[in-house]
Amino acid sequence: MKKLYIETVGCQMNVLDSELVVASLRKQGFELTDNTSDADTILFNTCSVRQHAEDKIYSALGRLKNAKVTHPHKIIGVLGCMAQKDQRLIFERAPYVDLIVGPGQLHQVPDLIAEIEAGGGQKMEVSLGRKEGTRQQIERSHESFDPLRDAAMRPTPYQAYVRIMIGCDKFCTYCIVPSVRGPEQSRHPDDIIAETRQLADEGCKEIILLGQTVNSYRYREGDRVTRLSDLLTSLHGIDGLERIKFVTNYPKDMTDDLLQVVHDLPKCAKYLHVPVQSGSNRVLERMKRGYTVEDYREMMDRIRHLVPEAAVTSDFIVGFCGETEDDFQLTCKLVHEQRFKNSFIFKYSERPGTKGAELFPDDVPEDVKKRRNNELLAMQNMISEVDNHAFLGRNVSVLVEGPSKASEKSDDPDALQLQLTGRTMCDRIVVFDGNRRQIGQTLPITIYDANAHTLFGAVVTQHVGPELFSLNA
Ligand code: SF4
Repeated sequence: MKKLYIETVGCQMNVLDSELVVASLRKQGFELTDNTSDADTILFNTCSVRQHAEDKIYSALGRLKNAKVTHPHKIIGVLGCMAQKDQRLIFERAPYVDLIVGPGQLHQVPDLIAEIEAGGGQKMEVSLGRKEGTRQQIERSHESFDPLRDAAMRPTPYQAYVRIMIGCDKFCTYCIVPSVRGPEQSRHPDDIIAETRQLADEGCKEIILLGQTVNSYRYREGDRVTRLSDLLTSLHGIDGLERIKFVTNYPKDMTDDLLQVVHDLPKCAKYLHVPVQSGSNRVLERMKRGYTVEDYREMMDRIRHLVPEAAVTSDFIVGFCGETEDDFQLTCKLVHEQRFKNSFIFKYSERPGTKGAELFPDDVPEDVKKRRNNELLAMQNMISEVDNHAFLGRNVSVLVEGPSKASEKSDDPDALQLQLTGRTMCDRIVVFDGNRRQIGQTLPITIYDANAHTLFGAVVTQHVGPELFSLNA
């Protein structure tokens, strides 16, 4: 057996891509190791969204330089967005790297590794850039829909990501995704349904549909157009499947038909992640997000009207080029007013190759970005805590994912009684004491405590009345 070490950074797309790469390499006789020193092949599945994520990978590669000197047959590969973005620059910065593969060519990884093993030298396979061909040629060079799955690589065997589209055509000025993941392409609904059915047959209870702008999903076949709402309706009929989530949403494509389906179908999670990024129209315009704060408010009103129980989360970028204190205060105002379940807050990181880097200076000082980040986070945490306190005393349905972080660190990893963690339908994390056998079950839990990030509860035990034991019954 050859040994494979794989490290994944970045978004859910990358987690799914790594699962598919591992599945294809297992077929070629690889087994996983969590140690680079005994690995025959070391792969990094990379992210380009922030500079920090790229720096981390170049440092990791630097640490492997000596390993390559002592073990020249070890294969070192860089996959994913950074591979697509930096291409040969990676060979220049780390000449001992053997393999560079963009997100659109991951299905070629096993063959490329075999060629390197056979003495074929360094290999690089990447997609065409956004200006390097016709739209059709560029689309084809990014296609990588591979149905191979590997349950062992998923965070839990009961939950799985399913890709329903790739790429993005929105071109927000701060974002590298349209360059590295290519044009927006929706996957055939029949393939998505077949893959989901297979996952459900394997015991998967929850699927999370993935797309950079997942609610922009549209598959055209002649006159027929399948929208995300149609796809959800078809997936809802799959036996064994209990929950369907979808991320990440684009505010302008949050249509009423989609919200109605989320409301009507019991298996659809009442959870919507819809990044707004800023509360200032001036900043939104510079970001080229394609909507105003008023548009976003109108969308939130429709969500509250059509899916009143929905938990809505958002993303924010603070310190974008030219963001003034007044702009930032408008963002704070929006967070205060919309009371998101939680928000993911990031300091702006300039990405070479984006319009933002070309047009605007990165002029908000780092200490100001940091302060704004902390202020917004503190405000969001207070809102999340109040929001979570509303659950005290309530019963919620929790899909049990596994041991909590505290249990994983405990002295006895095989203990039967342990602290477990799971999620509600609206994506709230719940921690409770339970039994290892309960992992993978959907359980009723009563909530007795809460903080900004977690609900704490106890399994609801059924009261068995004396009538069940009556001999006369
Ligand atoms: S919608 Fe904007 S932020 Fe999201 S992936 Fe596309 S370009 Fe990037």
